[in-house]
Amino acid sequence: MTQEMILANATLVLPTETVTGSVVVRDGMIVEMDQGATVPACAEDCEGDFVAPGLIELHTDNLERHMRPRPKVDWPHQAAIVAHDAELASVGITTVFDALRIGSILSDPNNRYGKYARVVADELLSMRDSGGLRISHHLHLRAETCSETLIEELAEFGPEDRIGIVSLMDHTPGQRQFQDVSKFESYIRGKYAMDAEGFEEYVAFLHGLHDKLGKAHEEATVAEAKRFGAVLASHDDTTEAQVATSAGYGIHLAEFPTTVEAARANHAHRIANIMGGPNLVRGGSHSGNVAAMELAELGLLDIISSDYVPSSLLLGAVMLGQTWGDMAKGLHTVTAAPAKYTNLTDRGRLEVGLQADMIRFRLTEGVPSLRAAWHKGVRSA
Ligand SMILES: [Zn+2]
Repeated sequence: MTQEMILANATLVLPTETVTGSVVVRDGMIVEMDQGATVPACAEDCEGDFVAPGLIELHTDNLERHMRPRPKVDWPHQAAIVAHDAELASVGITTVFDALRIGSILSDPNNRYGKYARVVADELLSMRDSGGLRISHHLHLRAETCSETLIEELAEFGPEDRIGIVSLMDHTPGQRQFQDVSKFESYIRGKYAMDAEGFEEYVAFLHGLHDKLGKAHEEATVAEAKRFGAVLASHDDTTEAQVATSAGYGIHLAEFPTTVEAARANHAHRIANIMGGPNLVRGGSHSGNVAAMELAELGLLDIISSDYVPSSLLLGAVMLGQTWGDMAKGLHTVTAAPAKYTNLTDRGRLEVGLQADMIRFRLTEGVPSLRAAWHKGVRSA
């Protein structure tokens, strides 16, 4: 059976411009695009609303939030996955790379954090294969090098998991995201209810771990990402030297560089900079690092990720569109750019022959409100 849908009189968001026109979708694909405000009899009149490609999210911690809605409160995983999927659909995301941490700390009884990624990956892939999800889900393994179990956890994954991204993380305090140790202290002491002395012991413990295992973990992660066929990403790069190391590993994608220096060095090495939507929306980083908007103004921001607030993806892209005076360029950071750097050639642009992943939104008092979304031509929101 052939199913056809026509969206007409829309402001189509193309990779480099916006035009008034229509899109014809058949069997989940974009099959025709025309310019002009004409509304054929069988078409839906979009009344000038923006119609853009569905959003692509590369790094979200949102699933963890659904699985643990409060500290020490666990939610049934299948239900958490479905709620997470629905939330992402409701903010215009049609493709997501779900970030799962690998690399745990088991030996420190006070600050133990355990393994969960393999179990959750199985649950997620099973739910996806059963057809229970509205949008397209891929795995993103966040490999924490400052941990005890990274190598054995990596070994539990393989090419059959079709992992999209592996990111190389090092959250040892005193560098990268936590250059400013006082920010780490307020974060960690808030999270674990730790006193000052306990905090000092914890930092010493992490430094020991980093010195002993950090380099070996880093090299193992690079090799394993290759074995999985995944895109490798760097995370929280701060210095030119760190960027040079990333480039040496063949990295083309950098999550959340923390300084202008690192962001510039990434561009010199043809590495795309991903910045957090919450940082953009709030006007600064909660860890005291470079503001995403500063990088945007310097022409150093390529991709937005919603990080821990799903709705910041569309909002952040629209804010960039307003700042740059170019809505197509703003939306590019959450559609064509993330598709390109994760090798998703079948989506990310409104173009004949591509998958019909699309969103329709308008601006209300400057804020985007989503009117509808489609994944492979089927309504997802
Ligand atoms: Zn980080």
